[in-house]
Amino acid sequence: TDGSGAAAGRIVLADPRGFCAGVDRAILTVQTILRSAGAVRGDGLPPVYVRRQIVHNRHVVEELAAQGAVFVEELAEVPDEAVAAGVPVVFSAHGVSPEVKAEAERRGMHVVDATCPLVSKVHREVLRFVREGYEIVYIGHRGHDEAVGVVGEAPGHVHLIEHESDVELLDFPPTTRLVLLTQTTLSVDETAGTIAALKRRFPWLQMPPSSDICYATSNRQAAVKLVAEQSDCVVVVGSANSSNSVRLMEVAQEGLAGRGRAWRVDDASELERGWFEGVSTVGVSSGASVPDELVRGVVDALRGFGFTEVSTVGTVKENMHFVLPAELRQRASARG
Ligand code: SF4
Repeated sequence: TDGSGAAAGRIVLADPRGFCAGVDRAILTVQTILRSAGAVRGDGLPPVYVRRQIVHNRHVVEELAAQGAVFVEELAEVPDEAVAAGVPVVFSAHGVSPEVKAEAERRGMHVVDATCPLVSKVHREVLRFVREGYEIVYIGHRGHDEAVGVVGEAPGHVHLIEHESDVELLDFPPTTRLVLLTQTTLSVDETAGTIAALKRRFPWLQMPPSSDICYATSNRQAAVKLVAEQSDCVVVVGSANSSNSVRLMEVAQEGLAGRGRAWRVDDASELERGWFEGVSTVGVSSGASVPDELVRGVVDALRGFGFTEVSTVGTVKENMHFVLPAELRQRASARG
């Protein structure tokens, strides 16, 4: 098309998409603290510190920062004065290694832990299996906050691999008790390939009690796959450092089967009209850390490109919900 909007294109929205229960809880944790503290304390200290991005989404972080939250990379950046005044320090949804917890404790910090319960589950599995004498093969992304936290639970016993090609780098005698654990946001399909290769090399490798790839990851991937199969192009909304968003883009690319490309954008401003030349159906989804208003912005922009017919392809209905960290529940209910 010439982009004049003459040919009406279609948008197919994936459902489920966007926020998962762990992200929802993490954001609400920071918001609850902000609301109860008021944006500015009398002493000039910030109302809350957050270690690392609370969730891997630029817009979410910028918005909370605008409301007064101060984001730090490491706890060392939180001044003693703030610790002494009891300013809360929130751990992000991706979890932390025991080292970080120990540092917080040493400094007497008031910690509010927003680690997703499904990530905490993997931490507990590491501890249990190591206690029982296992070595752990962990599929994850090196350097990702979640992987760093999990590996840190038992350094030397958690053997991180990223891809199928890494399997040959591992070596364990058959007497080693071996179990597999994974990051929560991997590609279901790619992981299946890596697991098959692991089983060929280490036939005695045990599987985790239940898949560590979380419900939100697998549901979003199943939905975007279905959408991609009906589209000539897919737009996934999510930040570049968001593991699950990047996986969604990869799954969409597979589902497109060579018909077109899957793109990842942080928001509508990154869309380029040229991507949609000759495209009649655009699939749209978003990562687990992405507010739906960003998806609405993308849909509006696509309407402007002539994609005026909007429908939704649904797979499953989610009703997962996690309660706030214990120390905030009282505050939240007291507020009404
Ligand atoms: Fe928790 Fe899964 Fe969401 Fe990560 S993607 S925060 S593991 S529910």
